[in-house]
Amino acid sequence: MKQHLKIIIVGAGIGGLTAAAILLKRGFSVQIYEQASVLSEVGAGIQCSANAVKVLYYLGLKDRLDHVGVRPNAFEFRRFDTAEMMHRIPLGKEHESKFNAPYYHLHRADIHEILANCVNELDPNCIHLDSKASGFFESDHGVTLDLENGQRVYGDVLVGADGIKSVIRAQILGETPVTYTGDIAWRGVIDVNQLPKGIMETVSTVWCGPKKHAVMYYLRAGTLLNFVGLVEHDQPENESWTQKRPWEELKKDFVGWHDNIQTVIDAIDKNACYRYALNNRPPVTNWSTGKATLIGDAAHPTLPYMASGAVMAIEDAAVLCRCLEINTDVSRALIQFQNNRLERTTKIVNGSTQSRALYRIEDVQDMREAFHQNDLNKSRSEWLYSYDPLNVELT
Ligand SMILES: Cc1cc2nc3c(=O)[nH]c(=O)nc-3n(C[C@H](O)[C@H](O)[C@H](O)COP(=O)(O)OP(=O)(O)OC[C@H]3O[C@@H](n4cnc5c(N)ncnc54)[C@H](O)[C@@H]3O)c2cc1C
Repeated sequence: MKQHLKIIIVGAGIGGLTAAAILLKRGFSVQIYEQASVLSEVGAGIQCSANAVKVLYYLGLKDRLDHVGVRPNAFEFRRFDTAEMMHRIPLGKEHESKFNAPYYHLHRADIHEILANCVNELDPNCIHLDSKASGFFESDHGVTLDLENGQRVYGDVLVGADGIKSVIRAQILGETPVTYTGDIAWRGVIDVNQLPKGIMETVSTVWCGPKKHAVMYYLRAGTLLNFVGLVEHDQPENESWTQKRPWEELKKDFVGWHDNIQTVIDAIDKNACYRYALNNRPPVTNWSTGKATLIGDAAHPTLPYMASGAVMAIEDAAVLCRCLEINTDVSRALIQFQNNRLERTTKIVNGSTQSRALYRIEDVQDMREAFHQNDLNKSRSEWLYSYDPLNVELT
């Protein structure tokens, strides 16, 4: 239908930018309103599997991804103290040939910049900074977005891509429960020149141990190493990506872990150790109204244990665009979008919550058994990565 529709997006994160890019490419009129005064992202990694990469390739971003990304050969699950390998899932060529697109490790700032450039090339007037949304109003004629700076914006469809603290979600759903998982996440990014050569192959290593696990992988064409340490802590923490904590506390959390982990922690910039709380937000069953909907973390916030939050946001963008194209009525399009995303996103959110326990086992034999029972390899690869948001049949 419908390329005459004016679409308002709140939030220029990975979800909002992907949605804008794909909608602009398909001929819609799009405006994004972002609260930040400059477009930027925190220093951390994103794992991006074939199901999302297909959308990024559709946007013509293959060369740019190849330039800054890393294509890992495998996931490796190692014991926290001896480094014994307990399980390996091939990625690399196997992932690419099976799922028709590669698996990338990306620096968040790199993928964010790539997407922002893509949007700016399609429409240099699309992104509005310093534009914090405060709420919206909808009628038969369309939707009005209110910004904190007093501005009002009018459109036909509103897309809340404003993340885990979404004001658009709060207006659609009211207050939804948030509970501390009991885990905090440390993050740090290390220049590989600070590390012994070959400390790790080009893989994603998950170090599994009692009450904590750590994930390491390369970023930015192999020049940086991403470290995430997920640790059970009694005290809830701020849910802020930019809160720094003393390096000594990180070091203490991993006492007794393998030498390679000590080497990596020792190399982290002591003034750039970030720590934040991981909170549970159970899946909801309705995130659309007649003229407004949600994508990404605003719709289905998830724990990071299946590395699929940003990936789902990218999938959402493609499916939403298709629904807006094939329906003559906006509310039907938004219902179709939600119905076609609900089961999959709920499965991923619940699967992520369950995956946490899989990485927290002390005994190697127990862990082998747990991997075997959970059939992580099959469950992850078959249904998670084979999804194609550009071509999946829409009901
Ligand atoms: C430790 C950790 C590791 C992760 N690893 C992975 C991974 O490997 N792979 C993966 O796919 N995902 C991963 N994720 C999840 C991923 O980071 C998120 O799911 C993803 O960033 C969600 O994108 P989004 O666009 O929905 O939200 P966000 O990236 O949060 O973007 C929201 C945007 O909206 C803006 N905004 C907010 N409120 C307003 C407002 N009122 N008005 C205007 N603008 C507003 C914000 O400034 C921001 O720019 C990880 C998360 C964590 C915590």
